[in-house]
Amino acid sequence: MPSERASAADRRTRAAAELRKRGFAALLASPSADLFYLAGYQMFPSERLTCLVLDCAGKATIVCPELEAPRAAVAAPDIERSTWGETDDPYTVVASLVRGSGTVAVADQMWAEFLLKLQAALPDRAFAVASPITRGLRMRKDAAEMEALRLVSESADRAYAQVLKRPFAGRTEREIGAELAELLRAEGHDEVGFTIVASGANGASPHHETGDRRIAQGDTVVLDFGGAMRGYRSDITRTVHVGGIAGGEEQKVHDTVRRAQEAGYAAARKDASAESVDVAARRVIDDAGYGKFFIHRTGHGIGLDGHEHPYLVRGNREMLEPGMAFSIEPGIYLPGRFGVRIEDIAVIDADGSARPLNRADHAFASVA
Ligand code: ZN
Ligand code: ZN
Ligand code: ZN
Repeated sequence: MPSERASAADRRTRAAAELRKRGFAALLASPSADLFYLAGYQMFPSERLTCLVLDCAGKATIVCPELEAPRAAVAAPDIERSTWGETDDPYTVVASLVRGSGTVAVADQMWAEFLLKLQAALPDRAFAVASPITRGLRMRKDAAEMEALRLVSESADRAYAQVLKRPFAGRTEREIGAELAELLRAEGHDEVGFTIVASGANGASPHHETGDRRIAQGDTVVLDFGGAMRGYRSDITRTVHVGGIAGGEEQKVHDTVRRAQEAGYAAARKDASAESVDVAARRVIDDAGYGKFFIHRTGHGIGLDGHEHPYLVRGNREMLEPGMAFSIEPGIYLPGRFGVRIEDIAVIDADGSARPLNRADHAFASVA
C-alpha cells in the first residue's frame, strides 16, 4: 500500500535525524517490530540474516538472503537491496554499509547470534540498543496506526461477543481457547497470538496456561486473548460466569475491578503520568480491601508488539501524549478460588482524553 510505504519512509527520515542527533552511525534491524516499523516489511526471524541498515544520512538498505529478495522487492520496493548467496558472509555485507563515525544502534530484539557476529565484523565499533531512537517514535502512533489498532480491537470485540453464545459448562479450557482462536480469525485477525482461558481457581493465575480443566457450572472464567491484523495487535480481557450469578463475592470482586478500570480511564489523559493511571486503578482495589491480590501493573503500551512502551506502572513518570496506545487491565486474583480481570486497549486522542478501542460490554456476563 502506497500510504504505508510513505509512512515507513517518513519514519526512516525521522529515525535518521535521531541517529545524527545522538551521534549514531547507523541503525541495524533484523526481523522484529522495529524492522516492520521502519521498512513496512514484516518478516519472521530465521537463521539466515535479514537486516535493515539505516545509516545516519537516511540511506536504507535491506541485506537479505537471495531467496528472500523477491519478497523484499514486493514489500519494500523503495528500499535498496543487497542480497547474499548461501555461501556468502552477510555480516561483512552489513559491515560495509556502516559508514560514518559513531556507535551502531541495534534493534532491541535482535538475536544474540546476529549481534555477536556483527560485533565481530565491526570490531572497532561501539554497539547500543536502538530503543532510545525507536521508542519515542513507536510510542506516538500516527493516524494510520491508530486506525489499525481500532480495527484489530473491534475484531477482538466481535470474537468476544460470539464466544458468549457458545456453551462453556462441561467443556475444557482448551476447547474454548481453540474456539476463540477460530473466532479471531473469522473476525479478521491474520494472526492469533494467545488465548488464555482460566477457569475457576486457574483464574487466580494471571497468565494461566490454558489446559484440560473441564469448566463447571458456577465457575468464573477469565478470557484474555489477542493477535494481529496487518502487524498491529489486539489484547482484550473479559471475565464471565458460568450459569446465573448468585451475587456473592464473585460479583463484588467483578464490580471492584470494573470500577478500578473506570478510574484508570478517568486518570488517563494527555499530560498525566503513566504511573498515575496505575495509582488511580489501584486505589479502588486497595480501598475495597483487595490490594494485595492485584499482583501486576495496570497496563502496557501496544502496537506492533503486544507489550511495548509506555508501561503503566508505579515509578514511570513518563507523560501520556496524544497517539499513545495502551491497555488498562486491573485484576484481582484470589489464590485457590478465582480471578477477575477486565482489559481494554485505549488511546489518547487529539483532544487529550482516553478513548477506548475495545467497546465489548464490561458487565459480568453469564454464559451457559
Ligand atoms: Zn498479560
Ligand atoms: Zn491481555
Ligand atoms: Zn494486556
